[in-house]
Amino acid sequence: MPARPSIKRENSRIATGAKIIVVFCCANCNAGYKATQCRQVLQDVGTFRCQVCGVEVYSWSGDYDYIDWTAIKAKLKRRKKR
Ligand SMILES: [Zn+2]
Repeated sequence: MPARPSIKRENSRIATGAKIIVVFCCANCNAGYKATQCRQVLQDVGTFRCQVCGVEVYSWSGDYDYIDWTAIKAKLKRRKKR
């Protein structure tokens, strides 16, 4: 399923605007994930665990929440591209 960037249809449920896609990598098994970083009104804590090995990939608290975690199927090559 190819990810299509810049579809603005689903923006309406988050009124605060800027959403940032962040990529994380499991330190244990190297599985890749991407998540959407967005501002949250209530400061809350959250944790995401690797869907492959169950190790905690990232935990957060404060002004930002991370939603829509998606596994990245493509092999992560050591490509330095920005
Ligand atoms: Zn893992």
